[in-house]
Amino acid sequence: TVTQMADIGIVGLAVMGQNLALNIHDKGFKVAVYNRTASKVDEFMQGPAKDSQIIACHDLKTFADSLQKPRRVMLMVKAGEVVDSFIQQLLPYLEKGDIIIDGGNSLFNDSDRRTHELHKQGILFIGSGVSGGEEGARHGPSLMPGGNKAAWPAVKEIFQSISAQVDGEPCCDWVGNDGAGHYVKMVHNGIEYGDMQLICEAYQMMREGMGMSGDEIQQVFAEWNEGVLDSYLIEITRDILSVKEPDGSLLIDHILDTAGQKGTGKWTGMNALDLGTPLTLIGEAVFARCLSALKDERVTASQVLPAKAAPFSGDKREMIDAIRDALYASKIISYAQGYMLMREAAATYGWELNYGGIAMMWRGGCIIRSQFLSKIRDAFERNPKLQNLLLDEFFIDAITEALPGWRKAVVQAIEIGVPVPTFSSALSFYDGYRSKRLPANLLQAQRDYFGAHTYERLDKPRGEFFHTNWTGRG
Ligand code: NAP
Repeated sequence: TVTQMADIGIVGLAVMGQNLALNIHDKGFKVAVYNRTASKVDEFMQGPAKDSQIIACHDLKTFADSLQKPRRVMLMVKAGEVVDSFIQQLLPYLEKGDIIIDGGNSLFNDSDRRTHELHKQGILFIGSGVSGGEEGARHGPSLMPGGNKAAWPAVKEIFQSISAQVDGEPCCDWVGNDGAGHYVKMVHNGIEYGDMQLICEAYQMMREGMGMSGDEIQQVFAEWNEGVLDSYLIEITRDILSVKEPDGSLLIDHILDTAGQKGTGKWTGMNALDLGTPLTLIGEAVFARCLSALKDERVTASQVLPAKAAPFSGDKREMIDAIRDALYASKIISYAQGYMLMREAAATYGWELNYGGIAMMWRGGCIIRSQFLSKIRDAFERNPKLQNLLLDEFFIDAITEALPGWRKAVVQAIEIGVPVPTFSSALSFYDGYRSKRLPANLLQAQRDYFGAHTYERLDKPRGEFFHTNWTGRG
């Protein structure tokens, strides 16, 4: 009977698919599941989904037949060709108006293409960023859906009830057309790279620069987590710094200092270069991981290259506060840059992005979740056309207050020889962004000198170009 039909079907029962299926089921929706390797369906039904009302399917026809119309099929499979392959396998069993949702970590360009290709066949496609890993999928992820907006009313209720909730609001809203959902997920991951590197620089200043013990630093992070920096990443850093080895030493001191990466930070940086947006902080965060990977070379260099730096000798409490200010101000810069990138992407790809909504979606369920994101949402509520976060009154005040400490921490880091690529590049960006005049006049003169690239003049209308014979020669 109709009441037995499923509200949504999940294809792919690896860790993410299983947990999402259970989450959706818990919220009172009827779920059907399918997986290429049929034994995994059985293992799921006998294990985590035991005693549930989930409908197990061993072939795609039975799966499609078990879904209410319009059918809602969510793919939680390996990103890339597997998604296209499943779409092709599903199409014979779908009808016009049915909806395919891809919740994997797909590239936004693929989601763009899929939205258009499926639209031609009468199928509505949603590419949704899903953040929060296994735990998020089970208890409330951050969901960033984009694609064919005509599909949104049919999935909104399910998505907003399974997502994380903060202050009674779901961390899920419509992001924008085509690949916008996966694009925003990519930027989220880039921002995550930045947030992590910022915390690591604060740690390095205290550990290597000021010689503080792990326990002392743990206290500092615990304190910071009570203030403006309150966030998931500060909280786990606090907790990481309390984990000890059997001999009483800190586990963190035994971990090899080379960072891995899966490439989403790199993709964000590459896209910023493509779009010509100065996403300096995330770029530095990606490069910091690359530099960390050169461990052997660094060990060799450490034996021959001098620091010529003075040891830390200031007031410890003052410096800790300055480092906090540097972390907070740099974080504001990172998010401002991330929003600059999204704004440029919206203009380039023709999306109407829901900027305040994006901050709301990131407030819970995902790695970068924090109190801070409410401030970004507020800023876009005050002014939906806000050109740059740095021009919002709240952020002007926040930066103004943090600025002296920020400069002090960067100066100190340079003097004691501790690398702070994100703190310092954020400050350079800030000083550039607030500069009425930059030395690009000289740059244009150089370009004109060697390549006759011409220049515009301050005292002439824009669009009028001049060339000078700089050497006076023929
Ligand atoms: P996964 O390891 O990325 O993918 C496994 C699933 O894909 C299984 O259902 C597997 O079926 C299927 N699959 C793989 N190759 C296939 C092929 N050639 N043909 C047909 N099916 C194939 O699973 P996951 O970790 O649960 O992630 C699912 C998606 O969510 C991915 O795009 C991932 O990037 C994204 N994601 C993951 C996380 C996370 O924390 N893990 C967080 C957010 C987003 P079989 O069982 O038959 O092999």
